[in-house]
Amino acid sequence: MYLKAIEIIGFKSFADRQRLDFEKGITCVVGPNGCGKSNVVDSVRWAIGEMSWKSLRSASMIDIIFNGTARRSPLNLAQVNMIFDNESRKLPLDFNEITVSRKIFRSGESEYFLNKVQCRLRDIRDLFLDTGIGGEGYAIIDQGGVESVLSASAEQRREMFEEVAGVSKYKAKREEAIRR
Ligand code: ATP
Ligand code: MG
Repeated sequence: MYLKAIEIIGFKSFADRQRLDFEKGITCVVGPNGCGKSNVVDSVRWAIGEMSWKSLRSASMIDIIFNGTARRSPLNLAQVNMIFDNESRKLPLDFNEITVSRKIFRSGESEYFLNKVQCRLRDIRDLFLDTGIGGEGYAIIDQGGVESVLSASAEQRREMFEEVAGVSKYKAKREEAIRR
């Protein structure tokens, strides 16, 4: 399983629809300061369900929508589509390709889609559980992330290992069963 492409529409500095295709292996994004490199990573983080706008370096969740420049007016909608190659069936859906999308409107309303069918954020979270992708995942390591692993408590480190080992899915289900 790997991220084959992302499509970014109206997210932060990406006013026009942009499609970035990735090969298997390593991709480097290079460019001058402020050109939008970190915004690419933010778009991925957001699409997999990031709820904290602070970690998206934003003043509010709506602020991630393209808010205009001297020459262009602001947009009313931001959308990110992530296209995963799933031939390995690592994601538990029987499709070779899985598209995960998130939309946000200026009203603050968010919508999520799995292969173009509207779903709940929960469905996306469930899809990525134990893959390391997702809000609490380790797939995205930002500046300071390495240090936080090194300085984590034994308990926090155990949680990381549980995610890697695939235990956290069962823990989440158990906690939910107890709550009911
Ligand atoms: P550096 O090399 O300094 O890390 P970078 O390539 O990572 O730079 P980003 O942080 O990705 O740059 O992009 C910053 C740019 O994104 C700024 O010019 C900022 O104005 C723009 N930007 C952020 N949010 C929005 C938004 N909602 N609408 C329009 N532009 C935005
Ligand atoms: Mg940056």
